[in-house]
Amino acid sequence: MCGACHYPKFIDESVAQAQATAGRAVRILSADVMEISGVVSVVDPDKCAACLTCVRTCPYDVPVINDDGVAEIETAMCHGCGICTSECPAKAIQLMHYKDVQVIAKTRALLNETNELVANE
Ligand code: SF4
Ligand code: SF4
Repeated sequence: MCGACHYPKFIDESVAQAQATAGRAVRILSADVMEISGVVSVVDPDKCAACLTCVRTCPYDVPVINDDGVAEIETAMCHGCGICTSECPAKAIQLMHYKDVQVIAKTRALLNETNELVANE
């Protein structure tokens, strides 16, 4: 937000904010390639039951039901918050770098380390 959308302010301050906002927009729009996070959710269409849970719970309105009748997540729009992943009743969504098997393996490793520390005390 900038200008009067931000809060009531004098015109010179609004103009300065508008120029800064335009500068930031140009920086994004002029880039040939944009890098995004690799932590994004991906749907396994074979498991999706089209229950709409992810569509309703995503705070960024990213998941949609596509022409094939299953959920689809545009990875460039996903913020990687993981809410849809945890809410999906069919476990059809996995968050890249935080897949179930990865989280379970990390948790087991942590518990093993903790157990070893306790045993050595
Ligand atoms: S929550 Fe899971 S099962 Fe339901 S529409 Fe989304 S991906 Fe499909
Ligand atoms: S990970 Fe978060 S932002 Fe991405 S689709 Fe799921 S709920 Fe939306």
